[in-house]
Amino acid sequence: MRKIALFGGSFDPIHKGHVEIAKIAISKLNLDEVIFIPSGISPHKAGLTASNDDRYNMVRLALEGEERLSVSDFEIKKETKCYSFETVTEFKKMYPSCELYFIIGDDQYEKFTTWYKWEELLGLCRFAVFTRDGGEIKPPFMEIKIPPIKISSTEIREKIKNGEDVGSEVSEKVLAYIKEKGLYKKSYGEIIKKLKETLKESRFNHTLGVADTAVALAKHYGADTDKAYLAGLLHDSAKNLSDDELFALCDKYNIPLSEDDRKAPPIIHSYVGAFLAKEEYGIKDSEILDAIYNHSTGCENMSLLSKIIFVADMTEPGRRDFPGLSEIRKLMYEDLDKALVASMDANISYTKMKGAFLHPGTLKARDFILAKGKN
Ligand code: FE
Ligand code: FE
Repeated sequence: MRKIALFGGSFDPIHKGHVEIAKIAISKLNLDEVIFIPSGISPHKAGLTASNDDRYNMVRLALEGEERLSVSDFEIKKETKCYSFETVTEFKKMYPSCELYFIIGDDQYEKFTTWYKWEELLGLCRFAVFTRDGGEIKPPFMEIKIPPIKISSTEIREKIKNGEDVGSEVSEKVLAYIKEKGLYKKSYGEIIKKLKETLKESRFNHTLGVADTAVALAKHYGADTDKAYLAGLLHDSAKNLSDDELFALCDKYNIPLSEDDRKAPPIIHSYVGAFLAKEEYGIKDSEILDAIYNHSTGCENMSLLSKIIFVADMTEPGRRDFPGLSEIRKLMYEDLDKALVASMDANISYTKMKGAFLHPGTLKARDFILAKGKN
């Protein structure tokens, strides 16, 4: 007799843990097939969730090439709420000569007696409960112990919203799908709207120019384009504040300032910008925050993203001309480090010309790149 297990869930999104559970179930219960059944979700559910079609497509992609794993759109296709009882009844009809299993998590096990027609349901199929820590599962339920899986869909959605990487939690194809469709992302629209309200029009336009230029550079040099766009958008988020306001914020939130920083107030908007990006705009990714933090002076050992933001800031299309700009624009797609050094040189000349204090951070950053270039 063929043994088939149904595996229901919202799969929002499906992750590597789900697939692992199904494979463990196959080996422990000697199953011939596990059918994933994404549930239909009400579109009004709170938070950022993916549509029925997107969740179905992601499951399909995650299971591609897996012989014993498949996906059914039975619950997704239903326009009304679908009880497991209906699903199991339907599959019973579809596979009359098979032994049917239903895989659930221990959280669902706890609530099982609240399920619609749960007693009848127990007569229709066998229930396998997967547990992480060997909870007390009583007959007729069967227990499948799984190794602790530290992946959760909720956390994945949260990470994506904050611009963090989830490449280790979902399959490559699912990740590509999420990116292509822009799923779970806090919309750039919200950020842009807020920036437009805070920044002067010219600064706001500069911001959009830097974001676009950063994306172009990220594509060219193989950096993450989402991170580049966000860092570009937010790099000057504190630029509307006066020196006094910037100093006050640094005091209030313990943003450390060196003696040199205090002598060069114009650069402090970078530090406060990184702080605002985190606190006001919800960006948690440290690479993005570092790129914002370092966009005025640069630093030793800059990340690719930091270099991109630095150069994009200097070269965005709306930048007023300065000595060396056309050369930097020529260099930026040939040799990012050379464009970076040329950008820093332009900053240094400008500061000297104005007779302002030259922050030693710029010189250190520049020397670091030049020394590395010689090796
Ligand atoms: Fe800036
Ligand atoms: Fe800028």
